[in-house]
Amino acid sequence: MYKILFATSEAHPLIKTGGLGDVAGILPIELARLGLEVGIILPAYPTCKTYLKNLKEVVYLRLPAVLEPVRILKGQLPEGPNPVWLVDSPAHFDRPGNPYLNEKGQDWPDNAARFTTFCQAVAALANNPEFGWQPDLIHCNDWQTGLIPPFLTLLKSRPATLFTIHNLAYQGVFPRQQFDALKLPTKWWSPAALEFYHQFSFIKGGLVFADWLTTVSPTYAKEILTPKLGFGLDGVLRERAQHLTGILNGADYQRWDPRHDPFIEKRYDQTCWSHKADNKLALQRCYDLPEDKNLPLLGFVGRLVEQKGIDLILDALPKLLTEKIQVVFLGEGEERHQNTLQKLASRYPSQIGVSIRYDERLAHGIQAGADIFLMPSRFEPCGLTQLYALRYGTVPIVRRTGGLSDTIVDATEENLRQELATGFTFTESSPSALLIAIQRALACYAQSRQWRRLALTGMAQNFSWQISAKAYLELYQQLISPKF
Ligand code: ADP
Repeated sequence: MYKILFATSEAHPLIKTGGLGDVAGILPIELARLGLEVGIILPAYPTCKTYLKNLKEVVYLRLPAVLEPVRILKGQLPEGPNPVWLVDSPAHFDRPGNPYLNEKGQDWPDNAARFTTFCQAVAALANNPEFGWQPDLIHCNDWQTGLIPPFLTLLKSRPATLFTIHNLAYQGVFPRQQFDALKLPTKWWSPAALEFYHQFSFIKGGLVFADWLTTVSPTYAKEILTPKLGFGLDGVLRERAQHLTGILNGADYQRWDPRHDPFIEKRYDQTCWSHKADNKLALQRCYDLPEDKNLPLLGFVGRLVEQKGIDLILDALPKLLTEKIQVVFLGEGEERHQNTLQKLASRYPSQIGVSIRYDERLAHGIQAGADIFLMPSRFEPCGLTQLYALRYGTVPIVRRTGGLSDTIVDATEENLRQELATGFTFTESSPSALLIAIQRALACYAQSRQWRRLALTGMAQNFSWQISAKAYLELYQQLISPKF
């Protein structure tokens, strides 16, 4: 049985800030169901230590750039058969805030040192007899794990490596001084390695040194090869295009399904669709909005950043609010967007509800209670919330990009007739294009039979992880097999 070590900076329910947390919380479990032995390794944040009971120390590591020895703690995920290892370096990870930002929302100033320590520790375990669990492949995820592949090249023999790009916009780029301070091998200071326009790039470690690259949807795999969405790395990626695959993320239907969601007011499925309206009333109460089953309710859950097109929504809102609708928002992010949202909420108290925080329960409540899910992203590697929306019969409005293109079928007349349509899509990144898409959705909402059919088609879609996990399994086999 192959052993796969899944290295990640977050994994739900131990710690989560976004989609990577969702993926790392379910993909290792699905892979274990396919017969692989999959361990997860992540930094020992306080929440991980609290969640995992009976942690045991398994190894002490002395790492060159770290003063204190680093402990490796082992626990067991209650949700699956997967062992979990925590890299316990209290000076780096035992602090409040989230994995990347302090309580004021600023990057931790020592992020380069923190994630170098993490990567170095993972690499130091790869061939370590004391560790006693030798992986055949290390699956690295996003920039925080980008130095694992280069560190592994320093070993005499090493496991295969796969690096998954969950979002190319986040690259882990730091000044040259940090590279020097961390005493990394000088040969890595080269545009062919970690140097990126005179700066030190973590993600390049993964992109250049890993045996294979994946990203989280087929369309995004093509888009990142272009200057528009390559974020300066399209050249590096084009060189590796023969070793890059797009594997669509799945949805974790154990957690995200209105049939058994413990967070929602009333459970429902296609056969008792009318129960969705009780969730709408609960959501309206939660946001102090007038309770009305018939008003179209639009929802947004996501980071308040330009990527997600939040500014497009904000610009479209004044016109939109002339319609009889309500809109609720859950998210945190850039201060300017938070402020605008809060101002709008106090100006339109009967139409707009705003929650600036991270709230897992409310995220489920919006999926269940809204009629329409807004996701006008400028770019979207895969996107998970639109997949959840489908399952909850909440019709997504998405921009045609990345994983949104791969998962949502536009409600054209023809697609509606053939019962293929699952949402509304638009192309141009502008408030007016978004507004037109919303108006199309509202016109459809007004025809309740057609709306119901559209929502039920969405609910019947299956984006389960099983298919994607099989694609990862096949790739692992290719990479581990000696023929490679
Ligand atoms: P991304 O990874 O780009 O942030 P995804 O759509 O892939 O976007 O995944 C976002 C995940 O984070 C979803 O599970 C979503 O419900 C969750 N999420 C985002 N913002 C919040 C929030 N403020 N409160 C609760 N959950 C959130």
